Amino acid sequence: MGEELGVTAKKSENFSQWYLDVVRKGGFVDQRTPVKGCDVFMPWGYGIWEEIRAIADPMFKERGVKNAYFPLFIPKSLLEKEAKHFEGFVPEVAWVTRGGDEELEEWLAIRPTSETIMYYTFSRWISSYRDLPLRINQWVNIVRWETKATRPFLRTREFLWQEGHTVHATWEDAKKEVDEMIDVYSRIFRDYLALSFLILKRTENDKFAGADFTVAFDTFVPEAGRILQIGTVHHLGQNFSKPFEITFKDKDQRVKYAYQTSWGFSTRLVGAIIALHGDDKGAIIPPAVAPTQVVIIPIPFKGREREVVEATRKIKEGLEDLGLRVELDDREQYTPGWKFNEWELKGVPLRIEVGPKDVEKGGFTVVRRDTGEKSFETDVNVVPEILQDIQENLRERAEKKLEESIVTVEDLEGVRKVVEEGKIARTYWCGRDECEFGVKEETGAEIRGTRYDVDESEEAKGKKCFFCGREAKYVVYIAKSW
Ligand SMILES: [Zn+2]
Repeated sequence: MGEELGVTAKKSENFSQWYLDVVRKGGFVDQRTPVKGCDVFMPWGYGIWEEIRAIADPMFKERGVKNAYFPLFIPKSLLEKEAKHFEGFVPEVAWVTRGGDEELEEWLAIRPTSETIMYYTFSRWISSYRDLPLRINQWVNIVRWETKATRPFLRTREFLWQEGHTVHATWEDAKKEVDEMIDVYSRIFRDYLALSFLILKRTENDKFAGADFTVAFDTFVPEAGRILQIGTVHHLGQNFSKPFEITFKDKDQRVKYAYQTSWGFSTRLVGAIIALHGDDKGAIIPPAVAPTQVVIIPIPFKGREREVVEATRKIKEGLEDLGLRVELDDREQYTPGWKFNEWELKGVPLRIEVGPKDVEKGGFTVVRRDTGEKSFETDVNVVPEILQDIQENLRERAEKKLEESIVTVEDLEGVRKVVEEGKIARTYWCGRDECEFGVKEETGAEIRGTRYDVDESEEAKGKKCFFCGREAKYVVYIAKSW
């Protein structure tokens, strides 16, 4: 590998360096590629994405969502059809202008998102109320030509995602779909990825280009003092169905424009898992999405190698019979200590050590990655319980981190202080653009939105806007973001 093994920086002291050390040395990504911001997702990093996909895909299908694949190239004229959408995406579109020796008559965008290409087709698929609702998802790569500093998984020019697109007869049907997808995403992020998050309705200025409204999932990394958007659900209203002429003949025989939603999450989730759960030794991957849940490391002893190897094989078989993802690290060219460090850096949730003494006692030593706790066990059936416990502990820790990061304040000085401490300011806002742009300019932090899952507006009554002192309408969350 040529690189020094291990993390050189402490997470709480230099988050950026810590993060880079973990993703590079832990075998999540290789950034040594010829194009900036286009990283190799290595087996350990890509494996987490595969697990996330394996969890989410059946949850989508249960709702009647079907997978499809739409073209990578989007003609410029198509991308321009919804003006706000085009305006929002054009600064970061990568264009194909030549094909072989020929200049193309029309530039082709490499998909920055697929609303336009999908809706062009949807208008041909939908003609009657009988065709609704339509629910399509695709798992694909996306290119956005970032000019800001890139960061593995968190901000890259090419990434992987899923994008779901649905079409409905009424605004209310689309709203119901939005709410149900928020529930699906919440379960994926909380129950499997063990992440904590705020579900926020974005401000008018910050919503998706072309949406009626946008609901986003924001997780918070205290060591970096920054919020990370990990998923979004948009109510598109009729903003796309009108330019793309997605119409249907309703039961009353009248031709109407349809209502739409779109929703997506990306490989950024892998970065969120590393950033949120990791410690000074490296990553900690929640068992539900760890490509390897248990690593078994034999501790050989001269003359007793055979019995140790036999014991590890038996344990591996026993765990695999329980449906667990297990790896036996029997590489002879590395010492057990070296292997411990490497697997801790990668964040495998559980390590099993087997030495001659364990064999004599008829069992094995278990070491938890989240707490470092060691125990001697004799029955493989306890392992799923321990993994479940790790999963819950990670989620509880994450919840606690978020709770401790939110501080309610009443004025700009309060917001400034909280943001400078690397936390999330919760405060009251009048709803005007001046104050939204003003706080960004003054503090570098942004109004991320209002709670969508809980109505907090009552609390804002009688309060003053943190920025201008006028009557407040909303309780908002303000933080720096990536
Ligand atoms: Zn104000």
